[in-house]
Amino acid sequence: MDIILLGPPGAGKGTQAQRLVAEHAMRQLSTGDMLRAAVKAGTPTGLEAKAVMDRGELVSDAIVSALIDAELLAMGPETGAIFDGYPRTADQAAALDGILARHGRQLDHVIELEVDEDALVERITSRVTCENCGHIYSVPVNPPSSAGPVACEVCGSTEYKRRPDDNAETVRTRLGIYRADTAPILPHYEARGIVSRVDGMAAIEDVARAIDVILGLGHS
Ligand code: ADP
Ligand code: ADP
Ligand code: ZN
Repeated sequence: MDIILLGPPGAGKGTQAQRLVAEHAMRQLSTGDMLRAAVKAGTPTGLEAKAVMDRGELVSDAIVSALIDAELLAMGPETGAIFDGYPRTADQAAALDGILARHGRQLDHVIELEVDEDALVERITSRVTCENCGHIYSVPVNPPSSAGPVACEVCGSTEYKRRPDDNAETVRTRLGIYRADTAPILPHYEARGIVSRVDGMAAIEDVARAIDVILGLGHS
């Protein structure tokens, strides 16, 4: 089963993708994570992408589609893919159709996380990730208290990091780009009858349950 999680920055795509990976053995394909890894490794792609990402603008369609293609090549057909943060433009949506066809795969669901934009700046400026395993949290996990930082529930690390692009100014640019370039790809999938909507303002567990219902996945 291959799915797209769609929604503006801070909607909860990464949080839900990590949860699906942990509970249902799917694979998260986050172009944002891939690009950040490329930046960290100092690859040519990373060097080209860094400034664009810091401004909150989009990296070229060709770069991100090549990253996705390479990841799918390394994946067995039995493992379900969760596309997180991709596709983000009409050209990427068209590219993904071609990539999936070439890999003999097919998109089953596009899930749109519907959120109140006013809440997103707050969410994004509170986002922290585990330095070691990348698990997503929000700031209260790592309080500047005398008790010291809380250990990551996944790996036990007490080191957390924030993203350089998670500041109020860049978030507004990213939201504008979502509205202008990404939201308009929904009709591409609506025409195929595979779009579902979930209330992304609900508690994380409730969002998770709603997604599982759509995917027909049971809870143990
Ligand atoms: P995205 O991948 O869509 O940008 P994230 O999953 O990284 O979003 O979530 C952004 C921030 O909001 C994180 O700090 C995360 O802990 C928090 N968050 C995610 N889902 C919810 C939710 N349903 N309610 C409240 N906070 C959430
Ligand atoms: P968020 O989870 O907050 O939506 P991401 O981690 O998905 O953010 O993306 C961070 C940045 O990486 C984006 O602002 C953009 O610069 C770049 N990026 C990620 N995915 C894509 C994509 N599919 N197309 C173009 N740029 C992308
Ligand atoms: Zn961790």
